[in-house]
Amino acid sequence: MSKVLIFTEIYENDFDSSVLEMISMLRDLNIDSKNIIVAALGDDLYSKESILQNIPVGKVVGYKNIDTNQFNPNILMKLATGIIDQLLPEKIIIPKTSVGQDLAPRLAFKYKYGIVNDCLSIEESDNHWIGVRPVFGGNYLAKVKIKSDKQIFCIRTKVFDEFDEKNINPSIEFFEYEHNIETNSQIIERIQEQSDGIRLEDADIVVAGGRGLGGPEPFDTLEEIAKLLNAAVGASRAVCDSGWKDHSYQIGLTGKDISPNLYFTVGISGASQHMAGCSNSKHIVSIDKNVDANIFKDAEIGAVGDWKNILPGFLDTLQNLVKN
Ligand SMILES: Cc1cc2nc3c(=O)[nH]c(=O)nc-3n(C[C@H](O)[C@H](O)[C@H](O)COP(=O)(O)OP(=O)(O)OC[C@H]3O[C@@H](n4cnc5c(N)ncnc54)[C@H](O)[C@@H]3O)c2cc1C
Repeated sequence: MSKVLIFTEIYENDFDSSVLEMISMLRDLNIDSKNIIVAALGDDLYSKESILQNIPVGKVVGYKNIDTNQFNPNILMKLATGIIDQLLPEKIIIPKTSVGQDLAPRLAFKYKYGIVNDCLSIEESDNHWIGVRPVFGGNYLAKVKIKSDKQIFCIRTKVFDEFDEKNINPSIEFFEYEHNIETNSQIIERIQEQSDGIRLEDADIVVAGGRGLGGPEPFDTLEEIAKLLNAAVGASRAVCDSGWKDHSYQIGLTGKDISPNLYFTVGISGASQHMAGCSNSKHIVSIDKNVDANIFKDAEIGAVGDWKNILPGFLDTLQNLVKN
């Protein structure tokens, strides 16, 4: 078995936990940890060896002499190509983070890798890897086989549990970056997305509202519910386009992909473009006044009626449950 390379991002104090989900996925494909190499993309990795040591694979590689504005996509691309030039991996796994989904097609184009984007998983058949990805708004799954030996799979995050094995420590190899790191674009300012609670993509429970809420005010109730459930708040595109919520709340094809344990929706019809971002939720519970709303095709539990009559009682019950 040739080695499999996973790209991951290294932050100030930690690595991106999606790499642990990618390792779980590879373990399900019977890939031994020692056959997994993680390519770490980050600044000043030499001083972050203790972080890299916690990635449970055979080997971690990265550059020691990089100290720059690493999340500039052009610079990341340069770093990633340097690593590919040295390792020449056949199979590359890239988590579908904002960095990953930018990197994957660029690498595929540059090195003529076949690519399957937006995979939920990989299946194996006759020694071939087959990317399984949602199509038509998550209503169908396409199984995509790459003909060439050089393959990139960009995998959705939060589909697999994080690999939780503490006794595997990698060997670490630092490369010197010897080329010119300058690019023709530069990040001038970084603005941190304002988020009061848990990040939408990381939340175990998401409470989301749609156009059926009628305006921004009812989101206060959703925020209250989210607080009690330790959940994040999301929204449909209709809500964001109307300016009731910022676009960072948007779930769906042109918004965020989420895979929470529980997805609770209020006044969202469940258009295919919305479902494309949430159909991987483990359980969906929905309130909508239209019994024929598309969301009820995916919801495990549905309450048909006006949310104004349903939500206050729901909130009361929840508050009592939390109190006791
Ligand atoms: C290229 C493209 C990309 C798109 N990307 C996205 C995307 O990323 N995310 C996304 O969400 N959409 C996306 N859309 C838009 C999508 O097609 C839908 O228009 C949108 O999801 C509808 O949002 P909604 O469900 O909030 O509104 P509606 O479809 O208007 O649904 C409102 C629901 O609320 C219910 N309702 C109304 N009043 C009440 C009440 N008092 N009590 C209970 N229920 C009530 C109605 O019965 C209805 O089911 C995209 C569209 C296109 C063309």
